[in-house]
Amino acid sequence: MTKILIKGGTIVSMDPVTGDLECGDILINNDRIEAIASSISDESAQKIDATGCILFPGLVNAHTHTWQTALRGVTSNWTLLEYFKNMHAGLATNFVPDDIYIANMMGALNQINCGTTTLGDWCHNNPTPDHTNRGIDGIMDSGIRAVFFHGSPKPDPKPGQKHFSEIPHPRSEIERLLKTRFQNPQSLVTLGMAILGPHYSTYDVAVHDFLLAREYGLIASMHCAGAEAKTPDGWERLAKDGLLGSNNNIVHGNNLTDQQLQMMIDLGVTFSITPEMEMTQGHGYPITGRLLKLGSAPSLGVDLESGISGDMFTVARMAMGMQRAFDNAASKEQFGKLPDTSTIHCREALEWITIRGAQALKMEEEIGSLKVGKKADIVMIRASDLNMCPVHDPVTSVLMQTSLSNIDTVIINGEIKKQGGKLLHQGIEEGKEKLKTSGKRLLKQLNSVIH
Ligand SMILES: [Zn+2]
Repeated sequence: MTKILIKGGTIVSMDPVTGDLECGDILINNDRIEAIASSISDESAQKIDATGCILFPGLVNAHTHTWQTALRGVTSNWTLLEYFKNMHAGLATNFVPDDIYIANMMGALNQINCGTTTLGDWCHNNPTPDHTNRGIDGIMDSGIRAVFFHGSPKPDPKPGQKHFSEIPHPRSEIERLLKTRFQNPQSLVTLGMAILGPHYSTYDVAVHDFLLAREYGLIASMHCAGAEAKTPDGWERLAKDGLLGSNNNIVHGNNLTDQQLQMMIDLGVTFSITPEMEMTQGHGYPITGRLLKLGSAPSLGVDLESGISGDMFTVARMAMGMQRAFDNAASKEQFGKLPDTSTIHCREALEWITIRGAQALKMEEEIGSLKVGKKADIVMIRASDLNMCPVHDPVTSVLMQTSLSNIDTVIINGEIKKQGGKLLHQGIEEGKEKLKTSGKRLLKQLNSVIH
């Protein structure tokens, strides 16, 4: 790795100290940002001309099941109940380790292509250590920064087997992974636990899993929404038992009461919501506005590329647009008029997919904003393109107008991953063929499951 000097771009830093620069330079030294200023000279650095471009922090997709990438579009018309039956109790049971590998690698590459530099990869289809190993290989080979959240599969139990809600997270597998796959402190991929939590497990299993995550200092992330809660009073019991805290991440949370949300916020729990999938599948209304009212904010995720696109801008616009609609309607109802200004401004929604995502993955000291000393995870878009020009407010332009076609350059950990609108990764065409073959084989098995 060497020095890179990005010159003459508009900088949206998302950092209050750095601020925004109408025209500025960023100097990268190895993996970190060394300087941000209106003009920087460094003869030894590789130059990138950012004229007509906007630079902003790499996006954070805090929650996605990347292992489903080969099934794009397959779940798009399914409700949550169809998804449980056809995916978790059906398709998922037919995955071989190489299906997980190719889906994770190609899905993560698409994230980079779309401007995501950090991914919360929620891999919960790991029936064997081989599946897990290949899932990690896929994420690592893509070059993305990620937390690999290890989770167990959720098939229907066969006669004599326990239901998945009664099975504790496998301690031996977490210990094996820490010893064999996550010992390099330089690795861009770290380990987290995708646990069931009290919504999807018995209380005893939840306690076991919370304690295991705490013992190894791992983030324990868990879904909460959709189906009936397995342990309805579980959150209060966990809080009372001193187990709920800042290493816990709740995904969705649509069914939580304001009182429960407040209790969790006070304990430092983070929230990752996936508004587009939540609205599509029937989880309930996204909790965006309720979190904001309680002094918190969400991080966002795509959730399923088997259902929607991998584009985080779409997810952010959906989250903001839906909440504005709610707020506008409430104001009309209460005061007979619209609010004086929009209840959520675009900068806040851009925070959800940058610094808030970093916080949910416990990486806010390293990524999520452009700041001297932080890791160099940077996106550059061509703001002179037809769909973006003219730019009057770079923040609103980035959030509301960016499409995939504008994403020119993506840098992760100081390394250029996309340049001139093209991913630099070798073997993408070959990877697409493998992804297609994997998807077709899996779907054949689905067709024998559903009618
Ligand atoms: Zn999910």
